[in-house]
Amino acid sequence: MNVTDLPGIGPATSEKLASAGFDSILAIAVAPVSSLVDASGMTEATARKVIKAAREAMGMGFMTAENKEKEDETKIFRLSTGSKAVDDILSGGVLSGCITEVYGQFGSSKTQVALQLAVIACEQFPDGEVLYIDTENSFRPIRIRQMCSRFKKIDAEDVLKRIKLAKAYSSDHQIFLSEQAEALVKDGKVKLIVVDSVMNHFRAEYTGRGQLAERQQKLNRHLHTLSKIADLYNVPVFITNQVSANPGAMFGDPTQSIGGNIMGHSSKYRIYLRRGKAGSRVAKLLDAPELPDAEASFVITEKGVEDVE
Ligand code: ADP
Ligand code: MG
Repeated sequence: MNVTDLPGIGPATSEKLASAGFDSILAIAVAPVSSLVDASGMTEATARKVIKAAREAMGMGFMTAENKEKEDETKIFRLSTGSKAVDDILSGGVLSGCITEVYGQFGSSKTQVALQLAVIACEQFPDGEVLYIDTENSFRPIRIRQMCSRFKKIDAEDVLKRIKLAKAYSSDHQIFLSEQAEALVKDGKVKLIVVDSVMNHFRAEYTGRGQLAERQQKLNRHLHTLSKIADLYNVPVFITNQVSANPGAMFGDPTQSIGGNIMGHSSKYRIYLRRGKAGSRVAKLLDAPELPDAEASFVITEKGVEDVE
């Protein structure tokens, strides 16, 4: 079925919609009414009708839990982190279709894990691609090369071509890049989206108390875009996050992820990284929808993320 098969959409309207990114039945089915009106000049009533028809065509109503289980079995995949111990607490690795967040102090190896996942996405999927949004200027091609060396199947030259890097220079630019990503995942090749780190610009640009509401609104829009891409196109989205110390914590480790409730709601899996004994790192899984809280140790070596010997 094509967009022009929807009621009230001729070639001219379909072209206008396509140039605003609504180039598939799916994109129309999940679009807000106002966006279709703005993009095409159609009336609100027509937009409602078009969206309803698109949703029906996509079968986007209720489904049985049994069918949900079957759909997940065929669709969902997991990316290995490089460490068997860490994969085990995640029940196999980083899941497609949702956002996984890692947070921790600087040097806790967030970027190393992101780079390792990018290499493994290319290893698990021979034609797979990675979209990598770097906000801290910490992406290093040399690390990709080093991490490739542990896999016989892959060639570093080829992997470097399949990782598409974008540096984000401001929070607005970062939001723009995430919106652009939607057009790039549609052909199904993208097997991982990384944002390293998600809050860096937001934290630097919105400093006062008075700006918090605006910051959270923008952050919400950004995370919403990422969740939607993850879910609709079945891509794992891996975001790293900075931390702050919670002054109210009386016991235990006061380190907390920044970004507030909005971040907590958007990240389906949250992993806290910290330095462990003898140069190791510890990953702690928190608040997963179907997995218990658990910890695993790993090490960062020249070859990337590996199990403790
Ligand atoms: P974060 O993103 O959490 O700030 P990084 O992912 O940049 O932290 O981790 C940096 C750490 O990774 C360094 O402290 C170092 O221990 C380790 N690391 C980086 N490159 C290598 C390498 N080539 N060999 C071994 N360890 C490395
Ligand atoms: Mg980093």
